[in-house]
Amino acid sequence: MKISKALIILLVLLGTLFALPEYGKAESGVVYEVGDIVLNVRSEPSSGGTVIGKLQRGDQVIAFKEEHGWIQTYYAGKEAWVAAHYLIMKDRPNKISKAENQELKVTGQSVYVRSGPGTNYSVIGSTTVGDTYNIVAKDNGWYKIKLHDGSAGWIASWLTNKPSNTNNSKDQNNKVTATVPDKVKGISTSNPLKGYTIVLDAGHGGKDPGAIGLEGIKEKTLNSQTAEQVANVLRAKGATVVETRTSDRFLSLDQRAEISNAYNTDAFISIHYNAFPIQTVSGIGAYYSSKSKDFALAEDVQDSLSNTLPLFNRGLYQEEFRVLRKNNAPAVLLELGYLTNPSDLSIIQTTGYQEQAAHAIADGLVNYFD
Ligand SMILES: [Zn+2]
Repeated sequence: MKISKALIILLVLLGTLFALPEYGKAESGVVYEVGDIVLNVRSEPSSGGTVIGKLQRGDQVIAFKEEHGWIQTYYAGKEAWVAAHYLIMKDRPNKISKAENQELKVTGQSVYVRSGPGTNYSVIGSTTVGDTYNIVAKDNGWYKIKLHDGSAGWIASWLTNKPSNTNNSKDQNNKVTATVPDKVKGISTSNPLKGYTIVLDAGHGGKDPGAIGLEGIKEKTLNSQTAEQVANVLRAKGATVVETRTSDRFLSLDQRAEISNAYNTDAFISIHYNAFPIQTVSGIGAYYSSKSKDFALAEDVQDSLSNTLPLFNRGLYQEEFRVLRKNNAPAVLLELGYLTNPSDLSIIQTTGYQEQAAHAIADGLVNYFD
């Protein structure tokens, strides 16, 4: 009797939850689009707050919390407030799937994403241990997942933390740890970069966080993670890799160039992520200083990155960056995505993306040295 009463109360509560209006009130974690022509971004949740910027119709913001009709978001890396009244919900959260936890985590080291639910379908991409995806559908031991570029693909359930359709449930633990053959390792037995010295530079560090993105994510952290992946891939391909920093420490731009100049460096690669006040700005770009010294390297690496990575290709830029200009070796500075763009940020944080970027950089170097 008690149980059924509690159940009814629970159902009523759930009912009111779904009956709440779905617009007019900002929800945290949800992406909103600006509906007004120009919307002021303010330092505080009130019309008296200082205007620190402006958004235009179609710009997107992520809500982190709401206070009296104002939603908190990030603008130019800082906490900022906009009036909820002018925002249109873009991604409506699916409460039902959240409650059922319809998210999976990849447990295989190198897992193929296929066009359909079976190994006979073509490979459309790959993913790696720790990456998470939302489940869209399920079919005979395979999950249809939403990929980070918005499209969908299929992944074997036994290579995830949600194995399904296994005959013996006790067997599941063994199955989840199974991995598909690591093709990448097979290829790397040849050493196309043997004899080359590459200096890898993880941008910023220590007291200098670099750009600060949505949710307060620091550029220096992503730079370190990515540089580590690049170092691994380059070493596997036979290169001698020198890293300007392997811990969270501060180095001046001159010191970074000096490290490069102290070696017989064949190529210098500086790893960065970008930020911009307007959230819709996104993509990857490469910067060079000297047309004769740096351009060919920048072009080969950027070509390879833009052919491989799912982000928008912003192309090549000539810029007098000190770390490039003071460098005797061919040098390129890579901006591998925007910490201030919600879509970029969801992709660039994954090990899968950073690994993909690492392989693309290595391929670009192989082409450059060829
Ligand atoms: Zn940077």
